Amino acid sequence: MGGSLFDRIANPIGWSQADRSLLAIAIVLPAILTFVVTASFLDGWPYLREGTDPLARALVARASLLLLVPWAVLLFVALVARRRCPQGRLLVWGTLLLYALSTAVFTCLTGAFSSPGWLAFLGGGTMGFLLFDRLTTAIGIVVFYVLVIAGALVVQLELLPQAAELHALSGVDAHASSWSRAAMCSIVLSAFTLLLIGHVVTRWRDREARYHRLAETDPLTGLPNRRRLLEILDQEVERVRRNGLPLSCVMVDLDHFKRVNDTHGHATGDQVLSVAARILAGELREVDVVARYGGEEFVILLPGTSSQGAEQVAARCLQRVERAAILAGQTRLSITASMGVATIVAGNAPRSAGDDLLARADQALYQAKEAGRNRAVVAA
Ligand code: GH3
Ligand code: MG
Ligand code: MG
Repeated sequence: MGGSLFDRIANPIGWSQADRSLLAIAIVLPAILTFVVTASFLDGWPYLREGTDPLARALVARASLLLLVPWAVLLFVALVARRRCPQGRLLVWGTLLLYALSTAVFTCLTGAFSSPGWLAFLGGGTMGFLLFDRLTTAIGIVVFYVLVIAGALVVQLELLPQAAELHALSGVDAHASSWSRAAMCSIVLSAFTLLLIGHVVTRWRDREARYHRLAETDPLTGLPNRRRLLEILDQEVERVRRNGLPLSCVMVDLDHFKRVNDTHGHATGDQVLSVAARILAGELREVDVVARYGGEEFVILLPGTSSQGAEQVAARCLQRVERAAILAGQTRLSITASMGVATIVAGNAPRSAGDDLLARADQALYQAKEAGRNRAVVAA
């Protein structure tokens, strides 16, 4: 992932789940920390009414401090998960549910349904739709509603020893009817707002993801295009540097392809390209990648594969391409390909190793063409 930190933060769609959780935590933790500090040491919590009873203020400080603990634990878990299981769903659940709980606590403490808690709730919901999926966010929102109603009931029914402080803070008292009218109104209003936000944001995300996919896919063959290949190559070179396994590359160019176009027409040429792409893709393992590099050129990346292994793969592909029966109207045409194989040997890969790998494979391909085509040459 390139670009400055600000660029990367502006585009979290490609992020792992762990990184998304980290962003959410990075937004929430300083806020709670501010509440702890202001309620404990300064003139009172930023949103508290003036002249709030010191006992009530101490209650806010304790609640903030208590909430800080699970958030700090979550931060730690997210930092570990970032390396170990970046796509884990558990962390996402933890983040959203803890957010729902924290916002519900602050909403109850600062006055149910008429406080900055609602702002945090709407903002949190929007962030949820932006960063996570619709279902998890929706469940987080429902949990929030349930917790706020439960919290308000706890205050109203004086179920906690701090009843007086809670009444003072939240404004919820024994007049249940006015409270429940406000509650219903707020729940309906916020649910409607969030439904709308969720709809707009997820549509936008789907569209972004579609454009992103289109930008890195070759429309004719459905294979990754050159741009995507170069990205994958960078990642694979990085992996070679980390884990020390070799990386092989096979550059494939169809033989005398101009003739196919000239004899059978461009549409048949396109059809041949699609067939060739399918054949190559069919010969590879899950971790291998085949991309359309240019007109009738393909590049195959074989992670963890030695030079001999890549030569075997190339030989198999050559055979399959040669044997493939392609129908152009009534006539059956056959094609061949030439291939150049190059390998990065583990342990000594500089950062430019990717460009070098492609250049060497291209050179070997050139030799294969020179030597008569329909063959694979391994770079020296
Ligand atoms: P060789 O590689 O064996 O030296 O001969 P060649 O005829 O394949 O050589 P060259 O690389 O010069 O020609 C490639 C041809 O591929 C030229 C171009 O018309 C054709 N081509 C490139 N992209 C497409 C495409 O998307 N569709 C079709 N139908 N043809 C394409
Ligand atoms: Mg060519
Ligand atoms: Mg060619």
